[in-house]
Amino acid sequence: MNERILIIEDELPLAQAIAYALKQEGFQTRIVHDGQEGLRLALTEKPDLVILDLMLPKLDGWEVCRTLRAKSKVPILILTARSEEHDKVLGLELGADDYVVKPFSMRELIARIRAILRRAKMVAVSEESEVLKSGNLTIYVAEHRVELEGKELPLAPREFALLKVLVLNKGRVLSREQLLEIAWGQKEFIDQHTVDVHIHWLREKIEPDPKNPKRILTVRGIGYRFVE
Ligand code: CA
Repeated sequence: MNERILIIEDELPLAQAIAYALKQEGFQTRIVHDGQEGLRLALTEKPDLVILDLMLPKLDGWEVCRTLRAKSKVPILILTARSEEHDKVLGLELGADDYVVKPFSMRELIARIRAILRRAKMVAVSEESEVLKSGNLTIYVAEHRVELEGKELPLAPREFALLKVLVLNKGRVLSREQLLEIAWGQKEFIDQHTVDVHIHWLREKIEPDPKNPKRILTVRGIGYRFVE
Protein backbone atom coordinates (compact mmCIF):
# COMPACT_ATOMS: atom_id res chain seq x y z
CA MET A 1 0.00 0.00 0.00
CA ASN A 2 1.89 3.03 1.30
CA GLU A 3 0.05 5.59 -0.76
CA ARG A 4 2.07 8.68 -1.57
CA ILE A 5 0.71 12.06 -0.64
CA LEU A 6 2.08 15.36 -1.86
CA ILE A 7 1.53 18.25 0.56
CA ILE A 8 1.59 21.68 -1.10
CA GLU A 9 1.50 24.11 1.82
CA ASP A 10 3.71 27.13 2.54
CA GLU A 11 3.02 27.19 6.28
CA LEU A 12 5.93 25.06 7.41
CA PRO A 13 4.70 23.97 10.88
CA LEU A 14 1.30 22.99 9.47
CA ALA A 15 2.86 21.08 6.56
CA GLN A 16 5.10 19.20 8.97
CA ALA A 17 2.23 18.41 11.33
CA ILE A 18 0.21 17.00 8.43
CA ALA A 19 3.18 14.96 7.19
CA TYR A 20 3.76 13.60 10.69
CA ALA A 21 0.11 12.60 11.15
CA LEU A 22 0.02 10.95 7.72
CA LYS A 23 3.21 9.00 8.33
CA GLN A 24 1.71 7.64 11.57
CA GLU A 25 -1.10 6.29 9.39
CA GLY A 26 1.32 4.58 7.03
CA PHE A 27 1.30 7.11 4.18
CA GLN A 28 4.41 8.33 2.41
CA THR A 29 4.60 12.10 2.23
CA ARG A 30 6.47 14.86 0.49
CA ILE A 31 6.20 18.55 1.36
CA VAL A 32 6.59 21.41 -1.07
CA HIS A 33 6.21 25.08 -0.20
CA ASP A 34 5.15 26.86 -3.36
CA GLY A 35 2.59 26.33 -6.07
CA GLN A 36 4.98 26.16 -8.99
CA GLU A 37 7.13 23.39 -7.55
CA GLY A 38 4.00 21.69 -6.22
CA LEU A 39 2.44 21.54 -9.66
CA ARG A 40 5.67 20.25 -11.19
CA LEU A 41 6.00 17.45 -8.61
CA ALA A 42 2.31 16.55 -8.81
CA LEU A 43 2.74 15.99 -12.55
CA THR A 44 6.13 14.26 -12.54
CA GLU A 45 5.98 12.15 -9.39
CA LYS A 46 2.34 11.11 -9.80
CA PRO A 47 1.34 10.94 -6.12
CA ASP A 48 -1.84 9.12 -5.07
CA LEU A 49 -3.30 12.31 -3.63
CA VAL A 50 -2.44 16.01 -3.45
CA ILE A 51 -3.17 18.19 -0.41
CA LEU A 52 -3.32 21.72 -1.74
CA ASP A 53 -3.32 25.00 0.17
CA LEU A 54 -4.97 27.88 -1.66
CA MET A 55 -2.81 30.86 -0.66
CA LEU A 56 0.62 29.91 -1.98
CA PRO A 57 3.66 31.79 -3.23
CA LYS A 58 4.56 31.80 -6.96
CA LEU A 59 1.41 30.06 -8.16
CA ASP A 60 -1.78 30.07 -6.10
CA GLY A 61 -3.80 26.97 -5.26
CA TRP A 62 -6.62 27.76 -7.70
CA GLU A 63 -4.18 27.89 -10.60
CA VAL A 64 -2.43 24.72 -9.44
CA CYS A 65 -5.80 22.97 -9.16
CA ARG A 66 -7.00 24.12 -12.57
CA THR A 67 -3.79 23.14 -14.37
CA LEU A 68 -3.39 19.87 -12.52
CA ARG A 69 -6.98 18.82 -13.21
CA ALA A 70 -6.58 19.53 -16.91
CA LYS A 71 -3.60 17.19 -17.07
CA SER A 72 -4.14 14.57 -14.38
CA LYS A 73 -6.79 12.58 -12.54
CA VAL A 74 -4.94 12.74 -9.21
CA PRO A 75 -7.35 13.34 -6.30
CA ILE A 76 -7.01 16.84 -4.84
CA LEU A 77 -7.93 17.86 -1.29
CA ILE A 78 -7.97 21.62 -0.77
CA LEU A 79 -7.02 23.34 2.50
CA THR A 80 -8.78 26.64 2.90
CA ALA A 81 -8.79 29.31 5.62
CA ARG A 82 -12.17 30.22 7.09
CA SER A 83 -12.05 33.65 5.46
CA GLU A 84 -11.71 31.96 2.10
CA GLU A 85 -14.69 29.74 2.74
CA HIS A 86 -16.71 31.12 -0.15
CA ASP A 87 -13.87 29.93 -2.33
CA LYS A 88 -14.43 26.32 -1.46
CA VAL A 89 -17.21 26.06 -3.97
CA LEU A 90 -14.87 27.46 -6.59
CA GLY A 91 -12.29 24.87 -5.55
CA LEU A 92 -14.76 22.09 -6.20
CA GLU A 93 -15.76 23.67 -9.50
CA LEU A 94 -12.11 23.59 -10.49
CA GLY A 95 -12.15 19.85 -9.98
CA ALA A 96 -10.93 19.39 -6.42
CA ASP A 97 -12.33 16.26 -4.77
CA ASP A 98 -12.92 17.74 -1.33
CA TYR A 99 -11.79 20.51 1.00
CA VAL A 100 -11.19 21.06 4.70
CA VAL A 101 -11.41 24.41 6.44
CA LYS A 102 -8.53 25.52 8.66
CA PRO A 103 -8.19 24.92 11.52
CA PHE A 104 -9.03 21.25 11.16
CA SER A 105 -8.27 18.18 13.23
CA MET A 106 -5.81 15.65 11.85
CA ARG A 107 -8.43 12.99 12.44
CA GLU A 108 -10.84 14.79 10.16
CA LEU A 109 -8.17 15.33 7.52
CA ILE A 110 -7.18 11.67 7.51
CA ALA A 111 -10.80 10.54 7.35
CA ARG A 112 -11.34 12.75 4.29
CA ILE A 113 -8.17 11.47 2.66
CA ARG A 114 -9.17 7.87 3.20
CA ALA A 115 -12.62 8.55 1.76
CA ILE A 116 -11.15 10.18 -1.35
CA LEU A 117 -8.65 7.37 -1.88
CA ARG A 118 -11.36 4.74 -1.43
CA ARG A 119 -13.49 6.48 -4.02
CA ALA A 120 -10.58 6.84 -6.44
CA LYS A 121 -9.81 3.14 -6.14
CA MET A 122 -13.41 2.16 -6.85
CA VAL A 123 -13.47 4.35 -9.93
CA ALA A 124 -10.20 2.82 -11.12
CA VAL A 125 -11.51 -0.71 -10.58
CA SER A 126 -14.77 -0.01 -12.37
CA GLU A 127 -12.94 1.57 -15.30
CA GLU A 128 -10.72 -1.48 -15.61
CA SER A 129 -13.38 -4.14 -15.65
CA GLU A 130 -15.73 -3.89 -18.58
CA VAL A 131 -18.25 -6.56 -17.70
CA LEU A 132 -19.38 -7.46 -14.19
CA LYS A 133 -21.41 -10.60 -13.62
CA SER A 134 -23.38 -11.60 -10.59
CA GLY A 135 -25.95 -14.35 -10.78
CA ASN A 136 -28.54 -13.41 -13.37
CA LEU A 137 -27.18 -9.85 -13.67
CA THR A 138 -24.63 -8.69 -16.23
CA ILE A 139 -23.32 -5.13 -16.06
CA TYR A 140 -21.66 -3.68 -19.15
CA VAL A 141 -19.72 -0.93 -17.42
CA ALA A 142 -18.50 1.10 -20.38
CA GLU A 143 -21.86 0.94 -22.14
CA HIS A 144 -23.82 1.79 -18.96
CA ARG A 145 -26.07 -1.15 -19.68
CA VAL A 146 -27.46 -3.93 -17.50
CA GLU A 147 -29.04 -7.23 -18.45
CA LEU A 148 -31.20 -9.31 -16.16
CA GLU A 149 -31.62 -12.93 -17.29
CA GLY A 150 -30.18 -11.82 -20.63
CA LYS A 151 -32.81 -9.10 -21.10
CA GLU A 152 -32.10 -5.39 -21.16
CA LEU A 153 -32.90 -3.80 -17.79
CA PRO A 154 -33.64 -0.07 -18.03
CA LEU A 155 -31.98 1.81 -15.17
CA ALA A 156 -31.68 5.51 -14.36
CA PRO A 157 -28.05 6.73 -14.22
CA ARG A 158 -28.02 6.82 -10.38
CA GLU A 159 -29.52 3.35 -10.17
CA PHE A 160 -26.83 2.14 -12.54
CA ALA A 161 -24.06 3.77 -10.46
CA LEU A 162 -25.49 2.34 -7.27
CA LEU A 163 -25.85 -1.19 -8.66
CA LYS A 164 -22.31 -1.08 -10.04
CA VAL A 165 -20.87 -0.11 -6.64
CA LEU A 166 -22.90 -2.80 -4.89
CA VAL A 167 -21.82 -5.52 -7.31
CA LEU A 168 -18.17 -4.41 -7.21
CA ASN A 169 -18.34 -4.78 -3.43
CA LYS A 170 -20.31 -7.98 -3.39
CA GLY A 171 -20.61 -9.40 0.13
CA ARG A 172 -19.33 -6.24 1.81
CA VAL A 173 -21.44 -3.89 3.90
CA LEU A 174 -21.54 -0.38 2.47
CA SER A 175 -22.82 2.50 4.56
CA ARG A 176 -25.25 5.05 3.15
CA GLU A 177 -22.46 7.59 3.39
CA GLN A 178 -20.10 5.41 1.33
CA LEU A 179 -22.78 4.81 -1.28
CA LEU A 180 -23.45 8.54 -1.53
CA GLU A 181 -19.76 9.28 -1.86
CA ILE A 182 -19.17 6.72 -4.55
CA ALA A 183 -22.38 6.67 -6.57
CA TRP A 184 -23.21 10.37 -6.23
CA GLY A 185 -19.64 11.60 -5.94
CA GLN A 186 -20.45 13.66 -2.85
CA LYS A 187 -22.03 13.40 0.53
CA GLU A 188 -22.89 16.99 1.31
CA PHE A 189 -26.17 18.57 0.25
CA ILE A 190 -27.77 15.18 -0.28
CA ASP A 191 -30.02 13.53 2.27
CA GLN A 192 -28.77 10.03 3.09
CA HIS A 193 -32.34 8.77 2.66
CA THR A 194 -31.89 9.43 -1.04
CA VAL A 195 -29.89 6.20 -0.99
CA ASP A 196 -32.83 4.32 0.53
CA VAL A 197 -35.16 5.65 -2.14
CA HIS A 198 -32.85 4.51 -4.95
CA ILE A 199 -32.29 1.14 -3.29
CA HIS A 200 -36.07 0.74 -3.17
CA TRP A 201 -36.30 1.42 -6.92
CA LEU A 202 -33.42 -0.96 -7.66
CA ARG A 203 -35.08 -3.71 -5.67
CA GLU A 204 -38.29 -3.21 -7.62
CA LYS A 205 -36.28 -3.87 -10.76
CA ILE A 206 -33.96 -6.72 -9.81
CA GLU A 207 -35.63 -8.57 -6.95
CA PRO A 208 -38.27 -11.23 -7.76
CA ASP A 209 -40.00 -10.22 -4.51
CA PRO A 210 -38.94 -6.63 -3.71
CA LYS A 211 -40.62 -6.72 -0.28
CA ASN A 212 -38.51 -9.70 0.67
CA PRO A 213 -35.14 -8.82 -0.91
CA LYS A 214 -32.58 -11.56 -1.47
CA ARG A 215 -29.95 -9.62 -3.43
CA ILE A 216 -29.72 -6.17 -1.84
CA LEU A 217 -29.88 -6.77 1.89
CA THR A 218 -30.46 -4.09 4.51
CA VAL A 219 -27.87 -3.97 7.25
CA ARG A 220 -29.77 -2.31 10.08
CA GLY A 221 -28.28 0.97 11.26
CA ILE A 222 -25.48 0.90 8.66
CA GLY A 223 -26.46 0.47 5.05
CA TYR A 224 -26.64 -2.29 2.48
CA ARG A 225 -24.94 -5.45 1.31
CA PHE A 226 -25.21 -7.08 -2.08
CA VAL A 227 -25.25 -10.86 -2.31
CA GLU A 228 -25.15 -13.03 -5.38
CA1 CA B 1 -0.84 29.47 2.61
